[in-house]
Amino acid sequence: MATDSYEEAIAGLKKLLSGNGGIEALAAAKIKQLTAELEGTDSMVERIKSGFSHFKKEKFEKNAALYGELAKGQSPKFLVFACSDSRVCPSHILNFEPGEAFIVRNIANMVPPFDQTKYSGVGAAIEYAVLHLKVENILVIGHSCCGGIKGLMSIPDDGSTASSLDFAAQCTYLEKEAVNVSLGNLLTYPFVRAGVIHKSLSIKGGHYDFVKGTFELWNLDFGLSPSQSA
Ligand SMILES: [Zn+2]
Repeated sequence: MATDSYEEAIAGLKKLLSGNGGIEALAAAKIKQLTAELEGTDSMVERIKSGFSHFKKEKFEKNAALYGELAKGQSPKFLVFACSDSRVCPSHILNFEPGEAFIVRNIANMVPPFDQTKYSGVGAAIEYAVLHLKVENILVIGHSCCGGIKGLMSIPDDGSTASSLDFAAQCTYLEKEAVNVSLGNLLTYPFVRAGVIHKSLSIKGGHYDFVKGTFELWNLDFGLSPSQSA
């Protein structure tokens, strides 16, 4: 096994070090660092292996019918935008089953406006989900203690946005407002706008607070009417 040869190599290096006082301390430190890195890699591999093994035994093999269907194709009902933050995985907090939600995650769960050259990554995901997978719901989820929003709030401003709220409250407010901006941006995608007008698509905003353990969900009144569709 690779582990054996790795252990042999480390043992050989240790022997070499102990038998040769001439090797500089710098080289010894480097070897120590490399050893630590290799051990770190090993624990990562173990974590991934044990994680998949748990999933396979507890989920994949126990839900053969579901995974059999999913092997043929996907038809998720939701397109979800969420932050990359490790604490806000939509499948966990909303209990989505595999095949239920097509998910885009980025810093601060932002949906850019329609632009086929500038924002082609997110744009392609929205186009694929709406036009090909025919999702029926789009949900943008903001969350508490969002580092992306905090970063945005920490940019020095010109004083015109000063508020009586404290910093944390301003961040919470912006976490929700940023979701509303994303909901507005979604409407700049012609196929999203058409879906909303024809009621084949619903758009909602959400805010997950992992400090309080709450989830707020809202609609935005876009004031759309068919006459506005070009
Ligand atoms: Zn975030």
